[in-house]
Amino acid sequence: MLEDRSNYTLEDMDRMSVFHPLTSIETHMKQGPMIIEQSKGVRLRDHKGRELIDCGAGLWCVNIGYGRPEIAQAAQQAFENLNYYHIFGGASNEPMIRLADKVLTLFRERSGAPQMARVFFGTSGSDANDTNAKLVRYYNNLRGKPEKKKIISRTGAYHGLTTMAAALTGIDIYHKAWDLDGSGVLHTSCPHFFRFGLPGETEEQFTDRLIGEIEAMIAREGAETIAAFIAEPIMGTGGALLPPKGYFEKLQPILEKNDILFIADEVITGFGRTGDWFATGLYGLKPDIVTLAKGITSAYFPVSASVISQKIWDVLEAASPEYGPVMHGFTYSGHPVGGAVGLANLKIMEEENLPANAAKVGSYLREQLKARFGDHPYIGDIRGQGLMVALEFVADKAKKTFFKAGQNPHRVVAGYAPDNGIMIRGLPFTETLAFSPPLSITEGDLDQAMDALAKSLEQAMPELR
Ligand code: PLP
Repeated sequence: MLEDRSNYTLEDMDRMSVFHPLTSIETHMKQGPMIIEQSKGVRLRDHKGRELIDCGAGLWCVNIGYGRPEIAQAAQQAFENLNYYHIFGGASNEPMIRLADKVLTLFRERSGAPQMARVFFGTSGSDANDTNAKLVRYYNNLRGKPEKKKIISRTGAYHGLTTMAAALTGIDIYHKAWDLDGSGVLHTSCPHFFRFGLPGETEEQFTDRLIGEIEAMIAREGAETIAAFIAEPIMGTGGALLPPKGYFEKLQPILEKNDILFIADEVITGFGRTGDWFATGLYGLKPDIVTLAKGITSAYFPVSASVISQKIWDVLEAASPEYGPVMHGFTYSGHPVGGAVGLANLKIMEEENLPANAAKVGSYLREQLKARFGDHPYIGDIRGQGLMVALEFVADKAKKTFFKAGQNPHRVVAGYAPDNGIMIRGLPFTETLAFSPPLSITEGDLDQAMDALAKSLEQAMPELR
């Protein structure tokens, strides 16, 4: 007979049963879980009955906001009609076909990227980046360049946590003790001017120094060994880090000249978060591959996508008679319910023009944050684009120093936040709090969130001194 567990609380059962991602086991055993019971619009309710504005949109992903009945209806209809069939061996389904077409149309018509030619579906940003890492190597093998295999990523980058994606990720704590096989992965400097600009260096000089470093890396390694450069157009987990002036304009010709593919990881920036449909359009990028996830379904269903260019497709197509089927794919690639949910999600985003709202309220948010917190002794930088916004802490404003090890000002503030009515996340690379709410948020909600932030900051002050 199974043990009677009716005396256990949900918190107990969680502690005894669930292995949480990105969670300190020590802390979790003491504190237990925060159980989210309900969500609507931009708000969550937890098991203590607290109503919380979600300043993170989950993990930068619930772009349309929570609880939209249109999505539930689309999913129900899709489940009833065709709850699953794979797309291996040329099998297909209508919602997935239409979602692929929609994504390509958005790139063509809204982002100035007509070169994007095919969509490969997965279920997470990590698996999509693993697909991309495999694909650039496959591509080079098919065109007779088997030496061209290395991928350049950047310090501070986040590309996911499967083995290859985690190796591409450029933040040390994700590597510690995991023995990742990062062979062929190189990291170049983080493009965070506020933190890593040298004293007296202008932003343009900083860009030139970083670009020079990339050129030197290519020369040192040999362009014939480098397959791709992967970059988040705006680094998310790294701290909502905008590229310094001229960075991509100077980088892209170098990649092109050296026959190095450009992978734009738009897992966060895709689908409106920056105020544009894609950062590809925002920065005039010409990617060979784009990684998408999160906003493609607003996280109502796990769907990711690797969007590849005509140039890559042409090589795969030409090699097809010799190489046979492309032996890559997942059970849930092109899931019909994911397709239907994605389409319903993008319909809402278009009809309600949510990228434009992200641009408008994002500007308001940054203005207000600067007005309210710009003079705070521990807030050194307030930055962002659209609704990808961050506040970076400094122990000493003039010297831009970090706090003492273990002090974690951003996490202390985030810890007080739920009792004041918001969920806000501290990021792991710099001492940064991220504001990335649903794109449907209003200025009124943002005012309320900033009041809660002000209170949390005040409560945290004794621990920050
Ligand atoms: N790439 C970027 C830029 C991300 O921000 C993330 C997740 O936050 C990923 C990839 C990995 O996505 P997932 O957590 O769905 O595997």
